[in-house]
Amino acid sequence: MSKYWNPFVNELDPYVPGEQPKDKRYIKLNTNENPFPPSPLVLQAIQQAANGDLRLYPDPNADELRAKIAEVHQVKAGQVFVGNGSDEILGFAFQAFFDPAKPILFPDITYSFYKVYAKMFRVPYQLVPLQDDFQMSIEPFSQDNGGIIFPNPNAPTGKALAADDIKQLLDMHPDRIVIIDEAYIDFGGESMIPYVQEYPNLLVIQTLSKSRSLAGLRVGFAIGSEELIEGLQRVKNCFNSYTLDRLALVGAVAAFTDEAYFEQTRNAIIQTRTRVTEALQTIGFGVVESSANFIFITHPEHPASSLFAQLKEAGVLVRYFNQPRIDNYLRVTIGLDEEMDQFLRIVRDICENARKGETDDI
Ligand SMILES: *Cc1c(COP(=O)(O)O)cnc(C)c1O
Repeated sequence: MSKYWNPFVNELDPYVPGEQPKDKRYIKLNTNENPFPPSPLVLQAIQQAANGDLRLYPDPNADELRAKIAEVHQVKAGQVFVGNGSDEILGFAFQAFFDPAKPILFPDITYSFYKVYAKMFRVPYQLVPLQDDFQMSIEPFSQDNGGIIFPNPNAPTGKALAADDIKQLLDMHPDRIVIIDEAYIDFGGESMIPYVQEYPNLLVIQTLSKSRSLAGLRVGFAIGSEELIEGLQRVKNCFNSYTLDRLALVGAVAAFTDEAYFEQTRNAIIQTRTRVTEALQTIGFGVVESSANFIFITHPEHPASSLFAQLKEAGVLVRYFNQPRIDNYLRVTIGLDEEMDQFLRIVRDICENARKGETDDI
């Protein structure tokens, strides 16, 4: 609290990102970063652009990048919006869309930034509970609303919803915007981008942070009808004309020119996910079926909070959410094979030691 703050700032509940620790080297499986470096073409493009031209402002319309994304996803450039990470686009979307007279809907277990934006931009919301197995059902989303937003695959569960279910939602609410946050779609699930022509109320948001290994560059994009994209442009141009800098613009274009690298790295992560899932199941973990680059895991005998602390002590960082319904789960990002092998070794040790401790007590 400060006397200099707008009183509204006291009411805010800022998002808390996963730790970026500086005390020691961890196996970092806590923020869904990609374990592979960006494509060499991205690094080359950024190095080439690090020159005297940095004195000049970047293209405020990001025309080259938007054209590239339009080409890759077979839409018009006017159907593409780019932003400083998809979080920024979500922030603009909360300001640009939604009927302020009715609550927007999102799942009770989901990306925690939605609540933060709702408060910040004074958008009323209502949580829709997921089923016990964390599956999202469509039926409770049929109620009247000011708009709908959720990630697909969902976070932090990793569960995907079928395109047909999302189409049902879009059909139910033709006058409401439905925003699908596809931060993890390249690791599983069906993208809704092919349906933006058919549904003027559909906005799809993606990011280069996860599947393109560029969390540090801050680039996201949205695809939708030109009407929706213009709404985002209007809000952006009332906030900052130059949300993407010159290096981010050229790096992002280069990322989309190296599809071979993209395919290779995302397939490696998907394979490792399958292998780690099976290994964890063998030692008694419940693993939610994941379509993302992370897994959501729980063990009937070992409380997640204690596993989290012991893993951290052993040099492995994962994410623990002390929240109703998920406080016995850990979200574990899929890292390199060697990192995951070490993670599995440490987890097995922790579980075995706990069991030994119990038999010693008897
Ligand atoms: C990581 C993530 C984002 C944010 O990505 P940035 O592009 O890095 O801002 C958005 N939505 C979900 C669900 C995410 O997990």
